[in-house]
Amino acid sequence: MKVIKIGGGCLNGKKTIARIVDLIEEKAKGHIIVVSALNGVTDMLISGMDIALEQEDAIPRLISRLKAQHINIAKHLIHSRSALAQCTKDIGKMLHQLERLLYGLNFTREITPRLYDVISSYGERFSAQLLTSILRSRGLPVVHRAPHKIGMITDGKFSDATAKLKQTSRQLKQHLKPTNGPDTITFIPGFFGVSPQGDITTFGRGGTDYSAAVVATAMNAGLLEIWKDVDGFMSADPRLVPEAGLIPVLSYEEAAELAYFGAKILHPRSVEPVRTKNINIEIKNTLNPDAAGSLITAKSPRSKSIIKSVAYDMDIAVLKVHASGVGARPGILAQVAGKLTENGINIRSVITSQTCISLLLSLGDVDTGRAALAKLKPRPYRRIEVLNDIALISIVGDGILRKTGIAARCFTAVANCGVNVEMISFGPSRAALYFLTKQKDLTTAVNAIHSTFFSSPRCTPNPG
Ligand code: ASP
Ligand code: MG
Repeated sequence: MKVIKIGGGCLNGKKTIARIVDLIEEKAKGHIIVVSALNGVTDMLISGMDIALEQEDAIPRLISRLKAQHINIAKHLIHSRSALAQCTKDIGKMLHQLERLLYGLNFTREITPRLYDVISSYGERFSAQLLTSILRSRGLPVVHRAPHKIGMITDGKFSDATAKLKQTSRQLKQHLKPTNGPDTITFIPGFFGVSPQGDITTFGRGGTDYSAAVVATAMNAGLLEIWKDVDGFMSADPRLVPEAGLIPVLSYEEAAELAYFGAKILHPRSVEPVRTKNINIEIKNTLNPDAAGSLITAKSPRSKSIIKSVAYDMDIAVLKVHASGVGARPGILAQVAGKLTENGINIRSVITSQTCISLLLSLGDVDTGRAALAKLKPRPYRRIEVLNDIALISIVGDGILRKTGIAARCFTAVANCGVNVEMISFGPSRAALYFLTKQKDLTTAVNAIHSTFFSSPRCTPNPG
């Protein structure tokens, strides 16, 4: 049995969805499908909350738009009248619940983390119901199981939950085995689970990959397939590096590092559950379903240059906390990290020296982070500095730490193109090295590194 994850990027418009439905009929019998929201719907729900908070009148409009978006597809793909009526009724029930939640939000004048997570989970509820109805109308044996009713149990952390694997495995098996026949297609909405206290909790943006990985692990699946609208992991972003190529095989470690450091192919935590059972992940392009995509597995063949990919992330900023002797003063890092965590800020990485702690944060967190640290009393630092005109570049490949000369080659290539490196961290993991440059130097630096490791060295001037 396989678990297949269908991404929101492939659920985009009538024509594309029609093709996905055919693919499901052809390839997904007997398997479990974990599905994302239709393209753009989660964003719509999230921005809808802010609008609903301000304007009660906007709520019915939002509900009508969501209804139209899903029911138009149903009308296009469900040919039986009674099946269409049933689908409209089932989605209508969910829309009604959502509407009540939005009125509740407007009434209480507050978007609590609890409400935020429940409301943002509706996209997946709609899409799973829609696909179930469409395939059922074709006479196929289809079941639709809601994650919170079959024991997808989380640790309760809103918007960044982790599944409790042991409990979840036990419960998912118990609930899914009886309905999972040899030809049955099982649909499960991705992105969320439920805490032991009964709260809907999401796995963070893009979390359906993670949901699917948890289901695959719980059910001892033979394979986890991720259906997307691209072939898989590339040696670099092809928008920056036209000659970038597909990476056919990656290790769990490499995929996790690449996902973490910017390649928007996979939710960074998806490999955590599957690697405990050695389940492979295959990325499949639904626009090109017979092409070999990227395979993620326990051990991947080393390339001669070790490096598999050069990734980047622009959603990054550095909070530099200057203080004397920070390297030798034991409490300060804990104090700073504690304050940020208290304010809900995720520290992406830390580099410390004798005089400075550099905290890598997401761009959107940096102002809150600075304000939070300003409240520390007594002030444990001299000065705080923010760098936000930066890009994080990483090179990823298993064995990067053991092979000599890789860092030298990387930084020589960058220096030869006249790019200044702002900060380096080597060996946060066995598979990655990363550094920061100014944003204006990104294209030049990425191309310089890519051509050093993948072809002949050259410099590409930055556009503009
Ligand atoms: N729909 C959610 C999001 O857009 C989860 C996902 O698509 O994986 O973040
Ligand atoms: Mg999505």
